[in-house]
Amino acid sequence: METIRFEKDIPIRYTPDVCVTGAGPGGIAAAVTAARQGAKVLLLDAHTMPGGMSTAARVPVLMPYTDGINFLPGGFGQEVISRSMAISGQHNFDNCGIPLHAEQLKLIYEDLLTEAGVELLYYSRLAAVNAENGIIRQTIYASPGGLFAVKAKVFIDGTGDGSVAAWAGAPFEMAPLDEIMPSTLCSLWAGFDWKAYQAGGAFSHNDDKMPELLTAAFKDGSLSTEDHHHTGIFKNSNLTAGGNITHVFGVDATDERSLTRGLVESRRLLREYEYFYRQNISGFANAEIVDSGSLLGVRESRRITGDYTLVLEDFKARRDFPDEIGRYNFSADIHPPRPTREQVEEHKKLFKGTSCGKGESYGIPYRVLLPRNVSNLLTCGRCVSTDRYVHASLRVIPGCWITGQAAGMAGAIAADKNCTPREIDVQLLRNKLREIGGFFH
Ligand SMILES: Cc1cc2nc3c(=O)[nH]c(=O)nc-3n(C[C@H](O)[C@H](O)[C@H](O)COP(=O)(O)OP(=O)(O)OC[C@H]3O[C@@H](n4cnc5c(N)ncnc54)[C@H](O)[C@@H]3O)c2cc1C
Repeated sequence: METIRFEKDIPIRYTPDVCVTGAGPGGIAAAVTAARQGAKVLLLDAHTMPGGMSTAARVPVLMPYTDGINFLPGGFGQEVISRSMAISGQHNFDNCGIPLHAEQLKLIYEDLLTEAGVELLYYSRLAAVNAENGIIRQTIYASPGGLFAVKAKVFIDGTGDGSVAAWAGAPFEMAPLDEIMPSTLCSLWAGFDWKAYQAGGAFSHNDDKMPELLTAAFKDGSLSTEDHHHTGIFKNSNLTAGGNITHVFGVDATDERSLTRGLVESRRLLREYEYFYRQNISGFANAEIVDSGSLLGVRESRRITGDYTLVLEDFKARRDFPDEIGRYNFSADIHPPRPTREQVEEHKKLFKGTSCGKGESYGIPYRVLLPRNVSNLLTCGRCVSTDRYVHASLRVIPGCWITGQAAGMAGAIAADKNCTPREIDVQLLRNKLREIGGFFH
């Protein structure tokens, strides 16, 4: 491919102690935690809202936040959940999922960021990383006003895709596109009769009725893509429900052409599913899709290789680590790359086989946040150093809060001590995380 070399003077417009790129659940937890420790924190996002996938991609439900006994994302996660429950009045301490109301969540996140004194910038897309000999000198952003640079003591990668780390020269892994988890454009539904829906008994690939209805629709062509993995629709207020339905396969989240294809295909599929629900699903005869994600819901892209890679054996052994900064317990939820019924059965087997019992969880070592080959950088959220199995567990929102909170605390300590995140006193980090409610052994 033809290349160009382009030189330009770029203003260093911000000089925070800690620069967090990406305001998803991981990046927000990192920014708030670091700012509360007294660090001057800048949080930048390419998009126009906080929350990443959890708001912009309209993810409908929060995955487990307890192990049945302990509150796993203690600290930042507990605050978000408490504020959310105070608004919605919903509480389910037993485990899985309070429904996510994107508008409420955006406000909660922005309140937390403002109260902590984080400087927040939307419309700021990471465009380049200026790194030399494993040290990030500046990160560079494209905004409506042009390019600007940020010089910080410590950088935190909350992009989900690990873009800061990869562009700074950290090694990473990414599944081949014929194996990578499919993406989903989540949707917002209104005009349903929820009681009739619940009485109807057709919800997801896990019940008896939905698979038969789907198979019939694949046969008569009203659903054009044969996809037997159907997660379903979840009520998120009295008026609306969130759909985690449709999959687009082989999307490369680091490639604009692939992402665009994913969005266009998803919107076409959503129209088909709206018809399918109206025709087949009890309570949905008059329902309509009133909105869909402003970002494609990407489950999997780069996993940045760190000083330790957390793998399935660690998960299965419910392993403890001396540098543990959190614990988590969600099953390995690898959405199948091919939507056959056999694949869905395999998925169910893996999901069940990796489910944790009451009080069980696996440890998350600090080292998974330390990208190899780069000294002044931490990762958080879904790009931390794991194999595909642990990724498919830890990638959900409470998992991202846990790694985000730890990255923010470590970043603040490193900035304060004028050292790299790799050089901090890990026991000090653990003590400080415990003080704010972090849960680990
Ligand atoms: C379809 C789908 C369904 C899901 N369902 C659930 C569920 O039911 N429950 C649950 O708990 N979890 C669920 N998840 C998982 C969860 O939502 C995500 O894994 C989680 O949000 C990842 O958090 P993160 O902070 O790592 O990154 P993200 O949420 O991906 O946020 C990354 C942020 O970085 C920004 N960014 C990216 N690149 C750049 C750049 N170059 N410059 C500046 N900013 C950038 C983005 O705009 C975004 O705001 C689901 C995910 C998907 C995709």
